[in-house]
Amino acid sequence: MKVLGAGPAGLIVGLHLLNSKDVTILEKESRIVPSTCGEGIDLNSLYELNERTGFNSDRYISKFVKGAKFIYPNQKSFTYSTLGAVLDRDSWVMAMAEEFINDGGVIEFGSTGRCDIDCSGPKSGVVGVQYNVDVKYDSDYLEFYMDKRFSDYYTWIFPKKNTTNIGLVGKYADIDRFIEYKKIEGRVLSKKGGLIPIENGNLIKGNRFFLGDSAGMCNPVSLGGLVPIIYASDILVRNIDNPEKYRAEVLNHPMSSPALESYAKYHASFSNNDLDKIGEVVDGGALPGFRLSPLFRMLKYPSLIPKLKSLGEALKISMDYGW
Ligand SMILES: Cc1cc2nc3c(=O)[nH]c(=O)nc-3n(C[C@H](O)[C@H](O)[C@H](O)COP(=O)(O)OP(=O)(O)OC[C@H]3O[C@@H](n4cnc5c(N)ncnc54)[C@H](O)[C@@H]3O)c2cc1C
Repeated sequence: MKVLGAGPAGLIVGLHLLNSKDVTILEKESRIVPSTCGEGIDLNSLYELNERTGFNSDRYISKFVKGAKFIYPNQKSFTYSTLGAVLDRDSWVMAMAEEFINDGGVIEFGSTGRCDIDCSGPKSGVVGVQYNVDVKYDSDYLEFYMDKRFSDYYTWIFPKKNTTNIGLVGKYADIDRFIEYKKIEGRVLSKKGGLIPIENGNLIKGNRFFLGDSAGMCNPVSLGGLVPIIYASDILVRNIDNPEKYRAEVLNHPMSSPALESYAKYHASFSNNDLDKIGEVVDGGALPGFRLSPLFRMLKYPSLIPKLKSLGEALKISMDYGW
């Protein structure tokens, strides 16, 4: 089998496929060049990856987190507990490449061409930018700031062991303003950006499969692309002789749920005033298993009820399938 691209998608599906096929990855660069990433991922998906491919990610975890914390412009917040991690993604990707080669796979660097599985990354999307800052940020959660002053999507702070990833959909100048607002001091160690494809693309063309960012698999709510790759590569390998079935199973999987798209649309339409009201309703909440008080607060803003319901649905799917 020929796979295009030695990013997470190409390597993960390559490791899966090596159980039953000879696999060659064509990579246009002369070495592994990891793309930009906030490096956040949930632990269940890493265990799933280990189970399916035998690749153990433990050594590449920079910091464990207890879940995600969502913070609104008025500083109200709630948490969603799911064990997760912030990876050292560059070494994680390098290690997968090494294991792929040790297991008998071939990577042809500086090479491109026809393939069976296209994992060549995003062709379009929104622009995400990120700093890695020389600061040890004291939090056990991935923090998501739902504040339109900085980004129409959200701004993230993902704490690593000794440094911190701070990023958003927008421009570097927006991160600068956010860092000033948060009074985060520290040297910027790296500045990187990339496309985040949030609109579904082709999953198949004829007999050719598309996986990962080349198929627009990023979750439109969390913007995470690694977890969909882990689940979709399993579906792909099970249906390697039946592209139509791959397409149908991916589209039926919770990672493709219309609930994600529909909350992303609500979020795009919110002003900071709306977000403050949501903050008021959800403040202090701890999902899963919301405490009762936020439900009563909802009655103060009846027009928000369907949007909060949609938020709940989208969050549940995102926490299970798509950080
Ligand atoms: C700022 C930012 C933050 C993010 N944060 C997170 C996060 O915290 N968690 C998360 O889950 N996801 C995150 N993502 C998304 C995640 O990084 C991507 O979904 C993931 O990298 C996609 O992997 P991929 O293998 O599909 O594509 P890529 O990582 O882009 O790899 C594609 C590979 O294909 C090669 N290639 C391209 N064209 C060709 C060709 N024609 N021939 C041969 N080789 C080719 C490239 O050189 C590259 O090696 C983030 C993305 C951005 C931009």
